[in-house]
Amino acid sequence: MSVEITDWKTHADDDGILWLTLDQAGTSTNVLSISVLQQLDSLLDEISSNPPRAVIFRSGKAKGFIAGADVKEFLDVTTTQEALIMIKRGQTLFSRIESLPCPTVALIEGFCMGGGTELALACDYRVALDDSSTRIGLPEVKLGIHPAYGGLVRSTAMINPLKSLEIMLSGRSLRARAAAAIGLIDRAQPQRQIERAARQMALSPPAKQKMPLLGKVLSLPGIRHLLAEYMKKQVAKKAPRQHYPAPYAILDVWANYYGNNKRMMEEEANSVARLIQGNKVRSLVRVFFLQTRLKGLGDKKSFTPQHVHVIGAGTMGGDIAAWCALRGFTVTLQDREAKYLGNAFKRAHQLYGKRLKVTAERNAALDRLIPDINGDGVARADVVIEAIFEDIDAKHAIYRDIEPRMKPGAVLATNTSSIPLETLATVLKEPDRLVGVHFFNPVAMMPLVEIVKTETSSPETIQNAIAFTQHIGKLPLPVKSSPGFLVNRILMPYLVEAFTLYDEGVAPEAIDKAATDFGMPMGPVELADPVGLDICHSVAENLSSAFGIEVPAGLTKFVESNKLGKKSGRGFYRYKKGKPVKDNDADLDDQKAIQNRLLYRFLNEAAACLQEEIVDDKDLLDAGMIFGTGFAPFRGGPMNYSLQEGVDSIVQAMTDYAGNYGERFSPVDGWSLVKADS
Ligand code: NAD
Repeated sequence: MSVEITDWKTHADDDGILWLTLDQAGTSTNVLSISVLQQLDSLLDEISSNPPRAVIFRSGKAKGFIAGADVKEFLDVTTTQEALIMIKRGQTLFSRIESLPCPTVALIEGFCMGGGTELALACDYRVALDDSSTRIGLPEVKLGIHPAYGGLVRSTAMINPLKSLEIMLSGRSLRARAAAAIGLIDRAQPQRQIERAARQMALSPPAKQKMPLLGKVLSLPGIRHLLAEYMKKQVAKKAPRQHYPAPYAILDVWANYYGNNKRMMEEEANSVARLIQGNKVRSLVRVFFLQTRLKGLGDKKSFTPQHVHVIGAGTMGGDIAAWCALRGFTVTLQDREAKYLGNAFKRAHQLYGKRLKVTAERNAALDRLIPDINGDGVARADVVIEAIFEDIDAKHAIYRDIEPRMKPGAVLATNTSSIPLETLATVLKEPDRLVGVHFFNPVAMMPLVEIVKTETSSPETIQNAIAFTQHIGKLPLPVKSSPGFLVNRILMPYLVEAFTLYDEGVAPEAIDKAATDFGMPMGPVELADPVGLDICHSVAENLSSAFGIEVPAGLTKFVESNKLGKKSGRGFYRYKKGKPVKDNDADLDDQKAIQNRLLYRFLNEAAACLQEEIVDDKDLLDAGMIFGTGFAPFRGGPMNYSLQEGVDSIVQAMTDYAGNYGERFSPVDGWSLVKADS
């Protein structure tokens, strides 16, 4: 059956090279959909029967080679059998590329991910554009699977397994030079030479990439198994097997079948066909789409700020300023006196040391971060971020001072966690330019920023704040101005329940274990201690008046006796060299009941937020809690989890808990909205 070729363009040049250009119709990004692969299969029929001198694969898109498989198509797969058919089709196709009688080259410009990298690995040679837009990786693990089109087999056969496994286990992508350094590609070339380099490889094929000696030694059977076990222990520190089986599956396939390519290929396919079953992959695919949705919320081009002025160089302001300078902005940083700036610059130094590998780049970032005690930057800034301590009068005084000096059209953003924006806006002549940009601590680690809208913020201000957030590489989440906004509001009852359990005599280790076993990145107690119990106490008090949350007596006692958590060396845990001292023999109590109590408070508050329209829909709520708190990503967010578990059974269980533990567990009316379609 002949297939209509709509996504590939072929061009035979004078040297006899066939250029195969993927330019998928109707989209700006190439993905390996079933249709794209079918078309390639058909092209390979012709190429095999009449081989050219060489084949070069490239992309016809302005940005990027291939972004990977078509993730949407994963969701259509319901049985292991269907998964196997899909995977084996891809494997066979890439093996056909590998066994073509002529040289094959992948010319990579921009991102090259997952299936794109697997296609490139099936070619004889790979050459990539040496610029910052190029990123090459095998990030399948982030979707709960691993490479399945021969990528696991080919990468571990060619590259030192310490390197190839590391990129698959972490899912991180590499720049062209880093990829060349480990042998993932043959050459990194600047724009002006890349075509010539690909052509040269095609016409005078050099020796192919081979496994280095160390890699061969590490792949010997005895060493391989030991290495795999060691790596599993490392993985377990971050990703427990019961929740994240994919990295363990990578190591199992490699350790058990390396050396027998045919068998390893089969097991690579079987392994992913198994992983794809159940809800985990679906939920992780959902997280991927939620992230894409947040990234696409605003119109980045509509607002292109250059200069950011930050007032307050404390925990938040200092780190926000450092982050903005890292992302290329000119940043002026203001505080009351020079002595308050020192720590912020020290932390910026550390951040750039970690994130920027080239000295010139580190120096350039530091040059962009400018101390500004007099606040001269206010008049030049496109965005002014106020992050002084939580005091209405102090914030009002700042606003009165800066508003007359701000540029027309500049955004005034506050990082306040608890002062109503409406109160802050009362002293402004143009209250429509005030918006909340609520960052999370630690700024460099947390991807989410809540964009807090008031009745008076103008649509343009909100759009600009969203665009700004995207320019600094964070995910914007528009939320209604209301106590606690979305993330802290939902988190607080969960934390308060943890403190209540502690007051009842449950060991902190038992509370944390129940939460991490559910899939939270850390337990509520080990989260509260580093945040600071004084801060937790003040947030809890703040929300208590709005939502009738009772602040547990134990928490108040901790604060009164100056046991403030990690910073004072004592909170729920005792700290030694900055690390909590945990009791390995602590009584774990009734783990299921502890887990349910924590979870039901979390879910009930989420349903209340939906009801109060704090965010526009369920998906945004899930996105907020996943990217703002790390809520178990493989469960797809609190709304998705509730729907998967069954809203009726959760509501029933909560009603029972209300009878046993108190009214705070009574299901809110919002549950009917959780259940409703859309
Ligand atoms: P902080 O106490 O660490 O820092 C506040 C800084 O503001 C201090 O360096 C102080 O000298 C400076 N400052 C005070 N008055 C000033 C003035 N008039 N002019 C210039 N500088 C002044 O506070 P923080 O934890 O960084 O919190 C700042 C804001 O961010 C608050 O509104 C808080 O609610 C919010 N926030 C905090 C967190 C958190 O985890 N700490 C998280 C999100 C939001």
